[in-house]
Amino acid sequence: MSDHLIEMVLVTGAGGFIGGNLVADLRARGYKKIRAVDNKPLEEWYQRFEDVENLSLDLNLKENCEKVTEAARDIYNLAANMGGMGFIEHNKALCMLSVLINTHMLQAAVKFGMKRFFYSSSACVYNGDKQKTYEAPSLKEEDAYPALAEDGYGWEKLFSERMCRHFREDFGLYTRVARFHNVYGPWGTWYGGREKAPAAICRKVIEAKVSGKHEIGIWGPGNQTRSFMYIDDCLKGIDLIMNSDILEPINLGSSESVTINQLVDMAEEIAGIKLKRNYDLSAPMGVKGRNSDNALIRKYLGWEPSTPLRTGLEKTYRWIYDQYLTRERGEVGVIREAAAVAK
Ligand code: NAD
Repeated sequence: MSDHLIEMVLVTGAGGFIGGNLVADLRARGYKKIRAVDNKPLEEWYQRFEDVENLSLDLNLKENCEKVTEAARDIYNLAANMGGMGFIEHNKALCMLSVLINTHMLQAAVKFGMKRFFYSSSACVYNGDKQKTYEAPSLKEEDAYPALAEDGYGWEKLFSERMCRHFREDFGLYTRVARFHNVYGPWGTWYGGREKAPAAICRKVIEAKVSGKHEIGIWGPGNQTRSFMYIDDCLKGIDLIMNSDILEPINLGSSESVTINQLVDMAEEIAGIKLKRNYDLSAPMGVKGRNSDNALIRKYLGWEPSTPLRTGLEKTYRWIYDQYLTRERGEVGVIREAAAVAK
């Protein structure tokens, strides 16, 4: 067995969507010592594994960051207070407070010697002026500057990715930064206010199908454009970027652009129904157009996320459908129950 598989890997935000899927992926790839950390109580984690060290700790606190970082070789720092547009629009201060996690995690990584540090930034760092039309050109890495990031969440991400750069330059820390563009897939948030568009649309279509009330509420006019990356592509990209020589923040996203209406079309087709659409123009809708320009990642890695949205959405729809039915049967905390048996 190669040495790196028996060295400690730390995943923060492991009780959440991408972190939980990353822990599952690391296990599947043969890692033997995984430490998973999240501030949620263990029973609320989306996925949890018995052969992993699971810790419920608040990483806003420096002492907790030091506690979990000691002895870790690789750190995947995914913990952040975040959600879809509805959440980040109304919780800007909370989003900015994630700077405490990133500051303390970077300091701890320096304190305990040379580690490899992965940081999940976001497409929300990009200048809003470059996303003002539905047909806005895809975002290149250089479009983050001059800076005019998404208020709150985006500014925190931009600051933290720069901090990774300066910790690398000044303290010699191995840091790698990916700017995720909308990630979706099974084991993610699908209700409760933090869910993002693909999960929210799937859930609403399922609700309409099950209730027989064939209507759907859509935030904004429906012609906003976005791209959505399936979780498997995200996991592969994280691994490739962590092991690469890419020093600057790089896009990790799909370049398949769709309107929100097209996303709804796909979910309706999967469900086999047609719905009356009610557009809520007062709801938070984010920028008008956003897509990932993948020229740089193709140049560095000869790879880019490529799962067609239709394929990933079908898997996500089926997963949410099962969760929904279990919940409807009155089995509260569906995700939690599923998590306990996930292996
Ligand atoms: P998520 O909300 O499902 O997971 C984040 C986890 O971090 C949560 O479980 C939360 O409890 C945990 N957390 C928050 N504050 C913490 C604290 N103080 N201490 C310990 N844990 C804490 O979100 P996700 O979609 O899995 O996102 C993972 C990372 O990827 C985040 O950094 C997010 O900003 C970034 N990202 C995600 C997307 C996306 O589309 N999902 C897009 C861009 C960037």
